Amino acid sequence: MTDVLIVGAGPTGTMLAAELRLHGVQVVVLEKRASATWRAGGLGLHVRSVELLDQRGLLDRFEAEATRFSVGGPFAGIALPWPDDLDTAHPYGLAIRQEKIERLLTDHALELGADIRRGVEATGLDQDDDGVTVTLADGDTLRARYLVGADGGRSVVRSALGIGFHGEPSTADTYLADVELTEDPTAVVTELRRTHLRFGIAPFEGGVSRVILPAATVSDGPQPTFEEFLDRLRAFAGTDFGAHSPRGVSRFGTGDRLADSYRVGRVFLAGDAAHVHPPTGGQGLNLGLQDAVNLGWKLAAVVDGWAPAGLLDSYEAERRPVAEAVVVSCRAMVALLREDPQTAALRTLLTEVGQLPGVSAHLTGRIAATGVRYDLGADDDRVGRRMPDVELGDGRLYARMHDGRGVLLDRAGLTVGAWSDRVVRLPDDGCGRDSLLLRPDGHVAWAGDDQQELEDHLARWFGAA
Ligand SMILES: Cc1cc2nc3c(=O)[nH]c(=O)nc-3n(C[C@H](O)[C@H](O)[C@H](O)COP(=O)(O)OP(=O)(O)OC[C@H]3O[C@@H](n4cnc5c(N)ncnc54)[C@H](O)[C@@H]3O)c2cc1C
Repeated sequence: MTDVLIVGAGPTGTMLAAELRLHGVQVVVLEKRASATWRAGGLGLHVRSVELLDQRGLLDRFEAEATRFSVGGPFAGIALPWPDDLDTAHPYGLAIRQEKIERLLTDHALELGADIRRGVEATGLDQDDDGVTVTLADGDTLRARYLVGADGGRSVVRSALGIGFHGEPSTADTYLADVELTEDPTAVVTELRRTHLRFGIAPFEGGVSRVILPAATVSDGPQPTFEEFLDRLRAFAGTDFGAHSPRGVSRFGTGDRLADSYRVGRVFLAGDAAHVHPPTGGQGLNLGLQDAVNLGWKLAAVVDGWAPAGLLDSYEAERRPVAEAVVVSCRAMVALLREDPQTAALRTLLTEVGQLPGVSAHLTGRIAATGVRYDLGADDDRVGRRMPDVELGDGRLYARMHDGRGVLLDRAGLTVGAWSDRVVRLPDDGCGRDSLLLRPDGHVAWAGDDQQELEDHLARWFGAA
């Protein structure tokens, strides 16, 4: 029996597979797409995801295929100054197409020994006290101790579990197409964007442009055809700009949905399977990566047999509120993109307010996920937040986190004792006397200078000594 089966080799599934492999967990990933193809989806990684890539030694290979961005405007396109007080060693995002992200994460998971099976579709599941049985489209079955549905917004795993998926319906849909154009769209786009903020054409690599176009109706049906998109483009802009060679055509709405629960027994949901919302702000893929890094080490701890009580439950307790907060941001951004004089006035005011100290950092922190603080029941504001990278005597902190173990950043002469297989002690003569205990996902689990208190928290997060 496999340790963990993951359904879906999108960004969430591949990241999770790699996180589990860091701890030696046997992982099989099922992916119904026979090969990785262009996806008219994510275009960027925000600060927290950049940090996570650095923590796992992946940043160089991503930077080689990406462009850095540090411009204000992820919040509903409102021109905010890029904050210079973001507490991070990586104060930038990476513009990189989703297909490349998936390829790089897939390579990483394969290098670590994950078994990724393409062209294999899961159709149902059944669980008992010992494990989970997955039924495949060809009638075969597979069995594992645990299963994670990272199978996207229309998750078969979520449906099989009967988990509710609730939220607001879409009130306005948008087409998105990655195409080549034979005509320069600049003049028409400039004119139309005076009144239509949801229309835009942006060139990106290889002569391909991304066209974003308000749809005439709201639909929950199948993805649109290229012809349907062209008809709407002609009706809206008076021309189709000679659009041809579509790489991908999709449609998304303003609606959002959140899974009522992220876990039933031995089965978990992560990424879009647990939450969907409009791509405004470009957060979905990032959220999925961060789900994966939160869940990976916890599930590995259970498989390895050292998980303390309640560790697996903390996945939903920590990650669902983060998704809820993203939904709130998305709803606010959707409202700010309405095309009426009142909303235009609101945007003007927010642009002014955005120049005040701290405002841009707050809004950017919401989008970039640097502002996330898990409620770990401590008053100390450092506890629950992610630890930014710091220089240690002999290198950077993040460079010492590649193997996915916890870290004691020791400033008080403390020791990790019998937990040394799960937690590495790194001496740090940085600011303050407090030592910090970091979980494998880089969040601070404890801050203090008392050895007994440390051991209590080592036991709380890393099990019995
Ligand atoms: C237009 C658009 C723009 C976006 N821009 C951004 C952005 O800039 N930044 C950002 O962070 N996010 C963005 N997103 C969101 C992002 O694309 C998603 O949040 C992300 O793809 C979710 O990753 P995932 O791995 O959870 O799910 P998915 O990417 O949906 O992957 C799920 C995988 O599971 C497979 N699968 C599904 N069912 C089965 C089954 N039964 N058996 C086997 N395999 C199965 C699918 O084939 C797929 O490969 C955008 C989305 C859209 C639509």
